[in-house]
Amino acid sequence: MATLLILGASGDLTGRLLLPGLARLVRHGRADGLHLVGAGSDDWTAERWATRLTDSFAAAAEDADDDGRAALDKLRTTSEYRQLDVTAPGALARLVATLPGPVALYFALPPAISEKACELLSPSDLPAGTRLVMEKPFGTDQAAAFRLNETLTRLVPEDHIHRVDHFLGKATVLNILGLRFANRLLEPVWNNLHIDRVEVVYDEDLALEDRARYYDGAGALRDMIQSHLLHAVAILAMESPVSLHERDLRDGIGAVLRASEVDSDFAHSTRRARYTAGSIGGRSIPDYAAEAGVDPTRKTETLAEITVSINNARWAGVPFILRSGKALGGKRKEALVTFKPVSHLPTGFTGQDMPTRLRIGFGPETLQLEIDVNGPGNIFSLDRAVLETELNASELLPYGEVLEGVLTGDPTLSVRGDTAEDCWRIVDPVLDAWAANEVPLDEYPAGSSGPATWEK
Ligand code: NDP
Repeated sequence: MATLLILGASGDLTGRLLLPGLARLVRHGRADGLHLVGAGSDDWTAERWATRLTDSFAAAAEDADDDGRAALDKLRTTSEYRQLDVTAPGALARLVATLPGPVALYFALPPAISEKACELLSPSDLPAGTRLVMEKPFGTDQAAAFRLNETLTRLVPEDHIHRVDHFLGKATVLNILGLRFANRLLEPVWNNLHIDRVEVVYDEDLALEDRARYYDGAGALRDMIQSHLLHAVAILAMESPVSLHERDLRDGIGAVLRASEVDSDFAHSTRRARYTAGSIGGRSIPDYAAEAGVDPTRKTETLAEITVSINNARWAGVPFILRSGKALGGKRKEALVTFKPVSHLPTGFTGQDMPTRLRIGFGPETLQLEIDVNGPGNIFSLDRAVLETELNASELLPYGEVLEGVLTGDPTLSVRGDTAEDCWRIVDPVLDAWAANEVPLDEYPAGSSGPATWEK
């Protein structure tokens, strides 16, 4: 890719995540020759843009070698800022026409503005090889995602559209696939004959952190489960792909999500809650409903849990429990696979026979296998042992991995159009049921592990 055009250059995503991710990529010599252009509706001077780049590149520059620092300097000094209102007819097309191609257009804009900008483009505005990078949320429901897909595929081929999911990095995806498909110990038992349930959990200790404008309109189900955790389920549950090529992987992901749904008895298959005042690590956290920018009557959930069924031969009957929440006492970011008990335990053993469990940690990337062993002391007594290792982690930041996929033309990590629609199809009925108050909005004090009634 010759040019990366970031639309929304002055925004939060660009400063906090995109530019630092790009810097790490450049510092490792993995984006040589790239021309960077930032665009925004404000009239920024070249100096102001250069300062933003210096600030955002600082961490990567600090631990870079001479070559890395030189590459960062080159990118910064050759970069330019262009003032642009993407909603003005023809403005974006005119800018693209002046840039060395092929160009990647990164829409780091409010979602409605990105949609409008894409609607204003026509295929002849975009030179061959153009890539479009769309941020989450991709649409607001299944119908909106379908319409947005129609707009985008009118402009460029599907494999030139990158719908960003920075949660599951390349290392995480490959770690799970390696574990599942390269181990005879796991591969034959990875199904409903042997697995009792799978939990995918992303509990944060962070609270609202001044993000009411975005978060209060989204909530935990849209913010994490729809956008990210369903993909983690797909990687955990997909059939064995023929290869690691994007087509094989994304076909496998698409097939498993097409077979997935939430049982329509939503009062049993889903739970939601909102945090009240509390404290986390000595920090006092105000009641979510009283935070500036929050409309309490919206009943936005800060903790969501849904149970997904995968209706295929491998997984029928196995609950996949997806949970994510904010302001929780303990950080828990993992997939936990619980195996069924053995069909017969010889009499004579004492102690507790516990199910075998496999934990895959998401950041840090870890693996724990919990198994029963004998002793210590009494050889007849069953005890618990945990085999633990660290998994391979990427040297790139999550957004560095996203950008590397864009710049090298590899869409493996991006969400395919049909999958984006399916993720909404799975959660739309839940959102409707919650909006109709079919499921109570429980409460939990910030810093706790969730509503007391959920412990059961
Ligand atoms: P911000 O509101 O911080 O930034 C939006 C940017 O869009 C600003 O640079 C603004 O420029 C620009 N913009 C708005 N209207 C126009 C226009 N008509 N023409 C040109 N530029 C325009 O949003 P975020 O950075 O937080 O979010 C951007 C996207 O990333 C959203 O889709 C969000 O959902 C997604 N996202 C954000 C995350 C985050 O942590 N921030 C995390 C994951 C996804 P100006 O100020 O000059 O008007």
